[in-house]
Amino acid sequence: MNFQIDAENERIASEAARLAAGFDDDYWSEHDTRHEFPWEYYDAFARGGWLGVLVPPEYGGSGLGVSAAGTLLRTVAASGGAMNAASTLHLSIFGMGPVIHHGSEAMKQKYLPPTATGELHVSFGVTEDDAGTDTSRIRTHAVRDGDGWVANGKKVWNTKAQQAHKILLLARTTPREECERPYDGMTLFLADLDRKYCEVREIPKLGRNAVNSNEVFVNDLPISNDDVVGEVGRGFYHLLDGINPERIVIAAEAVGIGRRAVEVARKYACERIVFDRPIGANQAISHPLADSHSELEAADLLWQKAAWAYDTGAGNIGALANMAKFRAGEAGFRACDRALQTLGGFGYAREYHVERYWRESRLMRIAPISQEMALNFVAEHVLELPRSY
Ligand SMILES: Cc1cc2nc3c(=O)[nH]c(=O)nc-3n(C[C@H](O)[C@H](O)[C@H](O)COP(=O)(O)OP(=O)(O)OC[C@H]3O[C@@H](n4cnc5c(N)ncnc54)[C@H](O)[C@@H]3O)c2cc1C
Repeated sequence: MNFQIDAENERIASEAARLAAGFDDDYWSEHDTRHEFPWEYYDAFARGGWLGVLVPPEYGGSGLGVSAAGTLLRTVAASGGAMNAASTLHLSIFGMGPVIHHGSEAMKQKYLPPTATGELHVSFGVTEDDAGTDTSRIRTHAVRDGDGWVANGKKVWNTKAQQAHKILLLARTTPREECERPYDGMTLFLADLDRKYCEVREIPKLGRNAVNSNEVFVNDLPISNDDVVGEVGRGFYHLLDGINPERIVIAAEAVGIGRRAVEVARKYACERIVFDRPIGANQAISHPLADSHSELEAADLLWQKAAWAYDTGAGNIGALANMAKFRAGEAGFRACDRALQTLGGFGYAREYHVERYWRESRLMRIAPISQEMALNFVAEHVLELPRSY
């Protein structure tokens, strides 16, 4: 076994850190407070070609793989940009996974090059209020209309829908009760997010506010047949291909935020004098930080193993991706919570930014999949325990 850092990933980390250094904590705090999309940051990474890291070279990307994408996103998350910085790039990098794997040649030619350059913005439309994690219960549906389709329904939590030109829309095309299996009969569309037929409303939320989350109301949206991704009725299965890599890079992002929080807390603990000594001399302060440091190291190895398994096609990718997401989500949030405690009252003040890391790392225990569902996967598919739901 060789744990030496790959030279290519080292280059990616150093280049990403150089670019991210142009956007400090105050930049992110201001954009978060004002709910402003970080265009200058997005454009800087787009110009550097980083949005095409998973797009195959024949469509204008670099096709580097999940290990490279995780390295990039861990680095930007650790820069102080936290989840705001990672999510700004994340959707462009991962959103088009189903198109890369299942789109027609014409669809790939048309939409992958502008994804790689950053010109095309796509939102992801899976979650619905009533269905929750049970995606088989979605109500958004599409019916055939001449040569195309017409969709109706409502989606929720659609990241970046304010900027998006397109939405990867999962819709029922055969009623659930008429399908052999509950997840059959759903189709994935790369539909126009046409404001004539779609109303987009931002959801006020706890954190990661530079990147908007929305409700999307879909009213008689016409969709061309050319915008069907893969096979009609197999949309849910097409989505699955993108789910594991997304969980792996979320784990990498959680490690990045956690490391940033530990570093801020470490410096503070060395400098802050109370009772005539640095607070870091108290083991009640130093042990939690040392513990978090080692938890983050362990989580870092796990996501890298999962990424390696995905990129090389070796090992049980679903199990590794879910375990990495779970472990890193816990370790990242705990590191931010401990950092906040280390800073005492100032941890609660915006000026020190730890409260922002804390708010944003909390999200990683909920999305893109909750910790409970990640554990359900491990219990059922790794430990072969009976399905609990
Ligand atoms: C900021 C943000 C951005 C998001 N971006 C997008 C996006 O771009 N596109 C998109 O489609 N979705 C997006 N989501 C949605 C996200 O994927 C879901 O919120 C997440 O998967 C959880 O689903 P839910 O909120 O419907 O929870 P529910 O399914 O309602 O579950 C509620 C709670 O019950 C638990 N639970 C439910 N069933 C079980 C069970 N069988 N066993 C144990 N526990 C269970 C869950 O773990 C959870 O804690 C986003 C969410 C957030 C908060």
